[in-house]
Amino acid sequence: MKVEDKVLDLAKRRGFVWGPSPNIYNGGLSGFYDWGPLGKLLKNKVEGVIRKGFSAFDFWEVECPTIMPKEVWQASGHLSNFVDYIVKCKKCNSSYRVDHLIEGLEEKDPEKVEKIIQHKNVRCPSCKGEFGNVFPANLMMKTIIGLDQEVFLRPETATTTYLLFPELFRFFRTKVPFGVFQIGKAYRNEISPRQGVFRTREFTQAEAQLFILKNQENNFTQFQEYSDEILPLLKYGSEKIEKIKLGETIKKKFMKKEAYAFMVNVAYSLVQNMGFDKSKIRIRQHNPAELAFYADDAWDIEVLTERYGWFEICGVHDRTDYDLKQHAKFSKTKMDIQEEHPQILEIAFGLERTTYVLLENSLMEDKERDWLHFKQGMAPIDVAIFPLMSKDGLDDLAKEVFKDLNKEFVCVYDESGSIGRRYRRMDEVGTSFCITIDHDSLKNKDVTIREVSSMKQIRVKIENLQETIRDLLNKRTEFEEL
Ligand SMILES: [Zn+2]
Repeated sequence: MKVEDKVLDLAKRRGFVWGPSPNIYNGGLSGFYDWGPLGKLLKNKVEGVIRKGFSAFDFWEVECPTIMPKEVWQASGHLSNFVDYIVKCKKCNSSYRVDHLIEGLEEKDPEKVEKIIQHKNVRCPSCKGEFGNVFPANLMMKTIIGLDQEVFLRPETATTTYLLFPELFRFFRTKVPFGVFQIGKAYRNEISPRQGVFRTREFTQAEAQLFILKNQENNFTQFQEYSDEILPLLKYGSEKIEKIKLGETIKKKFMKKEAYAFMVNVAYSLVQNMGFDKSKIRIRQHNPAELAFYADDAWDIEVLTERYGWFEICGVHDRTDYDLKQHAKFSKTKMDIQEEHPQILEIAFGLERTTYVLLENSLMEDKERDWLHFKQGMAPIDVAIFPLMSKDGLDDLAKEVFKDLNKEFVCVYDESGSIGRRYRRMDEVGTSFCITIDHDSLKNKDVTIREVSSMKQIRVKIENLQETIRDLLNKRTEFEEL
């Protein structure tokens, strides 16, 4: 089986991702997925890294409604500009995004895109039929509140955060720059979602916003603080990844603004904290032609995947003063500081795609087992507890240990099958440590801890168990050193 199919199978079988949802009704709605117990635990870990990381860089968390009135999206530009260009097959009626049919498509004018389709003789991938006209499809989802008020589900958390600017400005004692982030659901009506959990209609975003004045963007202390960090940058138009120190990104003309480069580094450091292998991360600059309608510069953090090659899990956008200007104008509310609207620099993570890619990148195969290799502390299950046999009081002691540890860590208790099989079950989902209680445990009040990655074992006193596991998960000690 190919790695990507193994991951798909594992995700379904072991309760990471199920769907489309709701599965029991006609196989579910396409573009919607359920996260099973292990998937939800893993997603929580990813979310935890992001929350902790943003906070460490002094971003403050807020939470806004997912539904907003029409005026908000008129102001933000989403109602008129947030569209995909679509073609329909004349024969089988399937619809496709044109940028999915034509690789590297830069043209945005529908008529010109039609010419390209004719010229390249692009045909329907499912039936080889001819395509009709290219037309725009808005990605916003609509619903009704009350009797007849038409409102929209947010397509990003960012805009809802911007609407808080007057309150936030007061909260931060009328000083900029300041940073805020929001983690929550967003919705996009993808016309024909085809990439499974990679492109869904409902998803969780984690988006950080830095509000900053123009003259502060190139006079940014935190840029100096992290100037030695090395970023793997792929500039637009360049063929190769260049490893550039953060401090040199401006001088070497990779980026224009210190504060923006700092944001790229924040995003990159979070991706590393999740445990992605450095050799599988790159930071790619957008083609100016594919920039979102509000952006001045954009770089994506991409991770190498089996199924889709380099795949975006995070975008860093220079949104300029566009958003606050627009909302000030449309809401007739003051959003400027002495007649200047702050610039906004944004980091946007998609949590589901990040979690799934992390799962895929963690799959290891060796002679005797398939297993998941997570960074310490990232595995969905921290500890599994096994009595060697479910008799002679071994099971009672094991249940006691389970009950204690389960207060602090995510634990499972398993007494069925041989120890070897129980190890395999846990290896398959990357459980960090397996604890076995044997006959010596009764006498000596100690247990065996086995580590998933090395399969090495150590003996630890039960009274020290909780602290030992805590230290290991937080990487305060190495497994070998004990
Ligand atoms: Zn067709």
